[in-house]
Amino acid sequence: MIDRPPSPDYPPTLIIPDPPFDHPQYLEHRRWMVRALALAAAAAAAGEVPVGAVVVGADGTLVAEGENRRERDHDPTAHAEIVALRRAGQRRQDWHLNDCTLYVSLEPCAMCAGAIVQGRVGCLVYGADDPKAGAVRSQLNLPDHGCSHHRLTVVPGILGRSAQAQLQQWFAQRRRSAPPSGSHSEESRP
Ligand SMILES: [Zn+2]
Repeated sequence: MIDRPPSPDYPPTLIIPDPPFDHPQYLEHRRWMVRALALAAAAAAAGEVPVGAVVVGADGTLVAEGENRRERDHDPTAHAEIVALRRAGQRRQDWHLNDCTLYVSLEPCAMCAGAIVQGRVGCLVYGADDPKAGAVRSQLNLPDHGCSHHRLTVVPGILGRSAQAQLQQWFAQRRRSAPPSGSHSEESRP
């Protein structure tokens, strides 16, 4: 398993320090979220909405990672979480991810929350809330819904302000570079 810091050719990640929590579990979550944010930055550099995701095994090693690839792959399902979960299943040759933690920089949408439940992911850690489309607590709570047959632990808000700043920065930059008229409507979803 690969367990190393993000490649130096990733674009720099904007990190706003969170409160100085020194709980070992918090520090572990923060460490992997830094990686998810680096993946998100790489997606942004490729013209994608910046969202990154990392799957980590129970032994604390990296299983798989993914970044938003929707534009590049012309794939409406290529959200960072889906990419990472698919790779995790392929790498393990097993779609059951009960012992895994999924780190993602933005609260999952309904599609990704559904995939997280389908993959039996044991724990979800995410950064920024998505007030418009978040399907874990903002707009709806899919994991706790009656249609869900799997319960998981959810830890929101890890480096949430950094993830939010990264998204806001990306949308602000896109607005600045967009033509003054005739541009398509703003879409806040990755
Ligand atoms: Zn999604």
